[in-house]
Amino acid sequence: MRLNNEDNAWLSYSKSEKSELMDLSDAYMAFLSKCKTERECVREAVSMAKKAGYKDLDEIIAKDKRLKPGDKVYAVTMGKTIALFNLGVEPFENGLNILGAHVDSPRLDVKQSPLYEDTGLAYLNTHYYGGIKKYQYVTIPLAIHGVVAKKDGTVVEVVIGEDEKEPVFTITDILIHLASEQMEKKGNKVIEGENLDLLVGSIPQKPKEKNPVKNNILSILKNKYGIDEDDLLSAELEAVPAGKARSLGFDESMVLSYGQDDRVCAYTSLAAFLSTEKVSRTAVCLLVDKEEIGSVGATGMKSRFFENSLAEVMNAAGAYTELALRRTLKNSKMLSSDVAASYDPLYASVFDKQNSAYFGHGVVFNKYTGSRGKSSSNDANAEYMAEIRAILDAGKVRFQTSELGKVDAGGGGTIAYIMSLYGMDVIDCGVAVLSMHSPFEVTSKSDIYEATKAYRAFLMA
Ligand code: MN
Ligand code: MN
Repeated sequence: MRLNNEDNAWLSYSKSEKSELMDLSDAYMAFLSKCKTERECVREAVSMAKKAGYKDLDEIIAKDKRLKPGDKVYAVTMGKTIALFNLGVEPFENGLNILGAHVDSPRLDVKQSPLYEDTGLAYLNTHYYGGIKKYQYVTIPLAIHGVVAKKDGTVVEVVIGEDEKEPVFTITDILIHLASEQMEKKGNKVIEGENLDLLVGSIPQKPKEKNPVKNNILSILKNKYGIDEDDLLSAELEAVPAGKARSLGFDESMVLSYGQDDRVCAYTSLAAFLSTEKVSRTAVCLLVDKEEIGSVGATGMKSRFFENSLAEVMNAAGAYTELALRRTLKNSKMLSSDVAASYDPLYASVFDKQNSAYFGHGVVFNKYTGSRGKSSSNDANAEYMAEIRAILDAGKVRFQTSELGKVDAGGGGTIAYIMSLYGMDVIDCGVAVLSMHSPFEVTSKSDIYEATKAYRAFLMA
């Protein structure tokens, strides 16, 4: 059901729907609190998938096992992107029902040669990843999550700053008393990218030593993680806002957390996918990396990873030919799920009220995204949108449609246009977010619930 501006999903829930909705958002918040990097999201997805009976595709290939309808497999590349397949009874060539979302989020990546000392303070140099308002990243507690890969082939996992007993990190800002020059600057210059350096220590190791504070930090890293300064050359350490996801508001109707773009769609897609048992068309859930920097690289949507994994699945099912693969892709349908800009009454001027997404109005469908004259958008086919409306109405899913702000106010993109290149039907959908790309984004629990229902209805269609 399409909800109009005067409607609100909260008014229509039964008691049992409401408790189902709250259980779902609790599980979602636990996921957000635990998974703050693409690697952590994929690892958790694998563990959830295994519990739901999914098998590793690599093992199927290695043991030359056969796949049949009803079988469930997953493939992971570089620990950062995952494709899950639930084999349907229909032939592959009829097409797949695909859910896609991304698991990377804006953050600060620690540079390759990061550690330095200045006037008795030790810092880690960072390089921001994705679109951020740099001024939002100063003076908040940050945690470090990631890996350090050593020359001997071992990979050290690092998570520091989440447990209350552990220290956190921060980036300083100049005190207001001395900020008269800074306060005159444009927003994108108030905090410079090169100044996004994490404060990490202040105790000198020995007197009269060169870089005594830095050396002390290196000793701590050696003791705690067994790593040397050079090991940071082959590390992926991400500075992210520290702390758990929280319920927001007196009525606890919303979620406040880092990384909801796009884990709100990733988690709900995965939850819907794993709870779907028997499907007629083969169902796929794709959780991909690198969307925030253009879907590039081996783990981004532009890589051949998904196509190659599908070829392997079809081969193991005795259904692979080059032509069959092409037909399967062409006949597929996809919900490309990513967050939508929620209407923010404090910034009303950048929205078209009638074509905006609102909290409590259900899962959001964007026929197109892009910027200016729909540049770089996947403009979904009208016929496909009609099909989707029918599916949503049959599944009693509350939904709304929106654009990413007013015409010419800005814009953005998703992974939708990449998958559409196969000739398949793809439409953007997702959950509305306030303060998108900020350290603490806001979503509505009712929209999270409706998104999950929409994904389930789509997979069963
Ligand atoms: Mn996104
Ligand atoms: Mn984004």
